Amino acid sequence: MTLHELKQDMEGCARCSHCKWVPHLQIKSWRYAKVCPSVDRYHFHSYSGGGKMNMANSYVDGRSELSDTVAQVVYRCQLCGACQVSCQCYRDDIDLADVLLAFRSTCVEQGYVLPEHLEMIESMKREDNTLYMKKADRGKWADGLDLIDINTARAETLFHAGCRYSYDEDLRDIVRSTAMLFRSSGVRLGIAGKDEACCGGRAYEIGYQGEMKNYAEDMASRVKASGAQVLVTPCSDCYYAFKYLYPKNGLDLGIKVLHATEYADQLIKEGRLKPRTEIPITVTYHDPCHLGRRGEFYKGGWQGDNKLMRPSRLKQTGKLGIFDPPRDILTSIPGIELREMERIREYSWCCGAGGGVLEAEPEFAAWTALERLEEAAATGAQALVTACPWCERVFKDTVKEKGLSLKVLDVMELLVQSLNGGRHAGF
Ligand code: SF4
Ligand code: SF4
Repeated sequence: MTLHELKQDMEGCARCSHCKWVPHLQIKSWRYAKVCPSVDRYHFHSYSGGGKMNMANSYVDGRSELSDTVAQVVYRCQLCGACQVSCQCYRDDIDLADVLLAFRSTCVEQGYVLPEHLEMIESMKREDNTLYMKKADRGKWADGLDLIDINTARAETLFHAGCRYSYDEDLRDIVRSTAMLFRSSGVRLGIAGKDEACCGGRAYEIGYQGEMKNYAEDMASRVKASGAQVLVTPCSDCYYAFKYLYPKNGLDLGIKVLHATEYADQLIKEGRLKPRTEIPITVTYHDPCHLGRRGEFYKGGWQGDNKLMRPSRLKQTGKLGIFDPPRDILTSIPGIELREMERIREYSWCCGAGGGVLEAEPEFAAWTALERLEEAAATGAQALVTACPWCERVFKDTVKEKGLSLKVLDVMELLVQSLNGGRHAGF
């Protein structure tokens, strides 16, 4: 949707500032009551979700123009969706997240593109990934695993690693052991290897909305060729693209999509995976935004001219994201004690990496991550556990830079360890 088409949403903003805070009934302490990293870091109202709506409305009305300063405010935002959840508690006729995306698209159309984002788009166009790496190296993460190559044989489940897991060597054990875990449960798991490409979600988020269509079509042809009935990804950003962005833009993959934690949780509940070995550790779970509130499946459009009349089943409240499967996996592992942070589920604080912030504003990403690490440490947990390679990257880097003692782990790492007699998988 264009900014002009979202005029009613923008005009509906009451400037109440609820989008800066965890919804009031969910606040547990003053220390962890804020929810928008952008306005908490940069302070001016314009940085909040509502502030960006007001700026967009002013631009559409011709009362202001785009500038480098406006673009800086627009892109100092992780698109974490926390403002949308808080706003919808009070105003369910406003789709704030749609305005943030459309505002970025307008910035790109008008030539206000950040150089780091331009570099990323060029990498996507040239090498099909967001990390400036070579396409030919994409399948190297799976070397020696003997997984089915969907270019030559059919599979039951298609495993899509995503850009970060395909290239980030520091996270390689996680993606390798996740794939092997599924294979050891008897699943005929296939990968596209070097022919896998980016989901295109990051291009859409930074304002190149049209680019995503090419990636979606590419993905659909791979899905069809694989013969798979299920598409599994360990990446929360890819999950968000497949479950929300694709259907919102009329792009249908024609396959059931699951996040790796949903799939593993299902296998545990069916008795195909049995975590038996005790892992004595106290952990806290961080909900990745794009798996949690932003991972809520697309509920369908509304054609009416008054959103107040929109049926509640079509509202993107964030409540139906993936919150329970990762927690159920953790609590199924003997010895693990799960302690919750104050801001959890759809009210979580972001890791800092999303929406192109890690690439363009790394200092802001690290600042946001540190706030979450402090919240995690306050639970007394020994480790922050999550389910997204982008969260893991920024948390691990921040822990190292600040010399913190908190461990950063992936849910699947702990599951594999419990299934593997307490040893790290070492695939
Ligand atoms: S976006 Fe929503 S919550 Fe934020 S100021 Fe406007 S109406 Fe209030
Ligand atoms: S998406 Fe997140 S960072 Fe951006 S304005 Fe909303 S709450 Fe703030």
